[in-house]
Amino acid sequence: MTALLVAEAVTRRFTRRPSLGDRIAAAFGARHDGRAVQAVTDVSLAISRGETLGLVGESGCGKSTLGRMLAGILPPSSGRVLFDGAAPMQSGHKVTTRIQTVFQDPFASLNPRLRIGDSIAEGPVAHGLVSRAGRGALVADWLMRVGLDPAFAQRFPHQFSGGQRQRVAIARALAMQPEVLICDEPVASLDVSIQAQILNLFLDLRRDLGLTCLFISHDLAVVRHVADRVAIMYLGRIVESGEAARVYAAPLHPYTRALLDSSPRLGRDQAVSLRPVAGELPSPLAPPSGCAFHPRCPLATDLCRAERPALTARDSGRLIACHFA
Ligand code: SF4
Repeated sequence: MTALLVAEAVTRRFTRRPSLGDRIAAAFGARHDGRAVQAVTDVSLAISRGETLGLVGESGCGKSTLGRMLAGILPPSSGRVLFDGAAPMQSGHKVTTRIQTVFQDPFASLNPRLRIGDSIAEGPVAHGLVSRAGRGALVADWLMRVGLDPAFAQRFPHQFSGGQRQRVAIARALAMQPEVLICDEPVASLDVSIQAQILNLFLDLRRDLGLTCLFISHDLAVVRHVADRVAIMYLGRIVESGEAARVYAAPLHPYTRALLDSSPRLGRDQAVSLRPVAGELPSPLAPPSGCAFHPRCPLATDLCRAERPALTARDSGRLIACHFA
């Protein structure tokens, strides 16, 4: 399969803006501590045409920042993103309309003053994908495809439930006829029963439209249902990636194992075996030495504290960053 979306050694740094206190202190001669946070460090990955890659990690691990760089919304500090052989950030919106994003909070991503029919038609009309005369038919078609009544086109976002709003957000993204859909925690804010409905809708649309997808989630159990391959991210770096079935059947990195142990699964005695990942995600302002997972890893040794393990290839395209995997 040919790679449609590629990240080559992408890194993203954010520098803390001086606060009012910092500026006042600077006026009296104090130096501003402009520490940079490295949200994503040296990440390389490729998503093949028609494939769904699941990107998993705890909140704050950098997965949404990586998703935004892949969507062309955020430029990398170094490295590059290639879409169909061209860099989206350098090619203007003609390329980036072919990548659309669905965010976690549909209420925040929909304009509260626009009827949802106008929200769905806005992009396709602006980019010449549909004429003004054809916008009504386009909106009705997409509302039906996501399981909503076409008459809802006249309603405002606050008149929908959370699950219905996420359906509208999916319709709005897909009405742009993208080749790549990036879903950033699309079901995290929904009830479990509604999550299943949205995931099934996603699977149906992906199959019918032949989409290439990046599915970002903190929950390995959610990604299990949708991903062909998974990449596990910890403190800005990929620590394990591979074919989803293999990773779930035999996780090799201690962090992947910990995430799986913390995630509910059918057929398992939850009371006995559900264990949250020990400890807290360290601050990216002060990442641990060596392997960043060592303060939480039950297998950590002096080597782990001193030396960061490289991401190395194992069998069947599996990549692992652990001295003892
Ligand atoms: Fe644990 Fe060491 Fe492997 Fe890091 S390198 S995951 S600390 S065993």
